[in-house]
Amino acid sequence: MAHAIDVALMDKIKKHGPGGTLDVSACFNCGNCTAVCPLAEDSSGFPRRVIRMAQVGMEKELLADEDIWRCYACGECTQTCPREADPMQFMAAARSYAISRYDATGLAGMMYRSAAVNVLVFLLFSAFFVLLLLSHKGGLEMGSNGAIFSGIGSSRLFQFIPGEWVHSIGVALFVVIGASLAFGVFSMIYRVMSKKNQAGERPAFPFAALLPSIWSAVTDALNHRRFRNCEQTTEPTNEPVYRRAWFVHGTIMWGFLAMLIATTVDFLFKPIGSPVPPWYSMRLLGLLGGLACLYGLTIAISRRIRAKETPYDKSSFSDWFFLMLLAATVLTGLLTEIVVYMPHPSIFGYATFLTHIVLAMDLLIMMPLTKFAHVVYRTLALALHQWALAPAPQKSTAAVSNA
Ligand code: SF4
Ligand code: SF4
Repeated sequence: MAHAIDVALMDKIKKHGPGGTLDVSACFNCGNCTAVCPLAEDSSGFPRRVIRMAQVGMEKELLADEDIWRCYACGECTQTCPREADPMQFMAAARSYAISRYDATGLAGMMYRSAAVNVLVFLLFSAFFVLLLLSHKGGLEMGSNGAIFSGIGSSRLFQFIPGEWVHSIGVALFVVIGASLAFGVFSMIYRVMSKKNQAGERPAFPFAALLPSIWSAVTDALNHRRFRNCEQTTEPTNEPVYRRAWFVHGTIMWGFLAMLIATTVDFLFKPIGSPVPPWYSMRLLGLLGGLACLYGLTIAISRRIRAKETPYDKSSFSDWFFLMLLAATVLTGLLTEIVVYMPHPSIFGYATFLTHIVLAMDLLIMMPLTKFAHVVYRTLALALHQWALAPAPQKSTAAVSNA
């Protein structure tokens, strides 16, 4: 079968790596990374095979290979690569490259290649959301102590920015994000399934195994089974559980999910801006989720600042951007939790509230373009991988004898 070759592929992927330092051209295909990778569970040559694809310019095959998403960046391969080719950073850069190629607008690619474009897009989205939110503001009434709207509770904040307006923008946002992600998801499914068929693997993709494969991928993503396996099979560590990479990543993800559930339930069932006590279940869930997320983000960011150990010693701008945007969103969310109980929210309180909503909207609208998209693509890749492994249904004896 003929393969289209893109001779510039490696250079393109390099631009997605940290500071343009990535250079897997040194790789001489020895296979050591495959031997040491705790997740190389079959004979597919993971991760060496995808590195080879990039070296020879097989872009179509690389983008259709779910293996790039099966890596959890433990760094074992990078630490033991005899050529210091940094396969872990290659896998991370290949994932960023795939996100940019699954994006139909081309914006993700520009953002990954240029930090300035990334910041500019963020500022433009922020300015747009500020103007949009304030275009329906309820008016400012300064209280005797400098407060806007004297009174208690979230109802005051939602006088400043009407809750119905936030809801309407939120619904529109989910439609835009859904459409954008749907394009990327279909692109990935089409590429992976076509490649497997063309490569002669011809997996059956039996319909009966579809839901179990999705379930397996979702539970895997939620309980970090592969991530934990990744650590358990490498050298024993004395690090306490609460500092291990899988747990730190887990607190960020579980915390974010808790906040998302709390916000969604409020959105659906609670009258907008209605005051609730601090022990209201969804408020507590959101608070605990925010604290868990902040804990994970603090450790993750401090490790990248210290940059002493693999895999935190090299960070791309997209790594920093995603972590900082998420941290700022969570931090302003937690501050807003305090502001809603202030007797007279000050100008600082209203600014915090507005900033939080704008950052949350930025985070969501930029999801298909940033590292945040890995949540969707990794889970999808795991599901497709699992589905492809499912055996074809057995033909009944009668059907076989009739054939
Ligand atoms: S990345 Fe390193 S360990 Fe892996 S095949 Fe290449 S040279 Fe060998
Ligand atoms: S970083 Fe870890 S999981 Fe990823 S390819 Fe290397 S050894 Fe395997």
